[in-house]
Amino acid sequence: MNTSNNKPLILDGKACAQAIRAEITEAVRVLGFKPGLAVVLVGNHSASQTYVAAKAKLATEAGFHSVVVTQPEDVTEAALLEVIRGFNTDPNIHGCFVQLPLPPHINLAAVFAAVDPRKDVDGFHPVNQGLLLLGSPKFVPATPRGIIELLRRSDITAKGKRVVIVGRSTIVGKPLAAAFLMKGDMGDATVTVAHSQTPDLRSVCREADILIAALGRPGFITAEYVKPGAVVVDVGINRDNRTGAIQGDVDFASVSTVASAITPVPCGVGPMTIAMLLQNTLEAAQAATK
Ligand code: NAP
Repeated sequence: MNTSNNKPLILDGKACAQAIRAEITEAVRVLGFKPGLAVVLVGNHSASQTYVAAKAKLATEAGFHSVVVTQPEDVTEAALLEVIRGFNTDPNIHGCFVQLPLPPHINLAAVFAAVDPRKDVDGFHPVNQGLLLLGSPKFVPATPRGIIELLRRSDITAKGKRVVIVGRSTIVGKPLAAAFLMKGDMGDATVTVAHSQTPDLRSVCREADILIAALGRPGFITAEYVKPGAVVVDVGINRDNRTGAIQGDVDFASVSTVASAITPVPCGVGPMTIAMLLQNTLEAAQAATK
């Protein structure tokens, strides 16, 4: 248990992701060809442009063939699906995804379903979501996989622990819950998924040995939500439109006085997400040789 004299372990996602990317670079060298990663960016959402540029840069640094295709904000759904189908049949592309969010006239489910499940390195295709729920995943979505990997490399096991996830989105909360429910050392947890309709959220969160904040509300989780000694993972990326500064969903200063371990924002879950996207793409390329 932490006290004010006892600082929490900082779960350094930046350093962890750097180590993983070095391993990926070596695996690409052994593979003998460049894994191809294609990203489709729709519109000129500035945060999305930043994320896509970072993903493309790190992919190239790891020895990947990186392709970014930009479509206008008013692209039709049919035209967007056509771009995805082009990557599905391109032998030089092993992983493909569409950067989110998308404009409201595009049906997200149709986009997820259009990506060939063998190239679905975001893990959002219904087949890959189903495989994860069945406990035999092919591609685990990058953010949940990054969280699990950061905990694993920090010698924090979920086995037998009470995990509370705040947020039930398709890209974070739900797949993360499925991952923690899998059998094995990084699963075998007792999982609660909370959301905006959960009564007495504070008490629910205080039951957690591992608390995951993925709600998109800056600084929402304060020390009162945290059981002394709990591990706290902050998924939130909340950008101040005025200053451009990024804040997590956790009030780092207050939660640090009670948590035994905590992820910072930035340099926590964010870099792990990109590393796991590259790992999924590497695995897609390796699978293509079999
Ligand atoms: P989302 O789709 O907006 O989902 C938010 C979830 O939080 C919903 O389930 C919502 O409940 C719940 N919620 C919202 N306000 C709440 C409240 N006051 N109390 C309890 N639950 C509440 O968000 P997301 O895409 O999962 O992203 C969540 C955060 O993670 C965002 O800040 C996002 O930018 C960040 N993110 C970071 C990464 C990364 O790489 N670090 C990756 C993805 C997302 P309802 O379902 O009832 O509406």
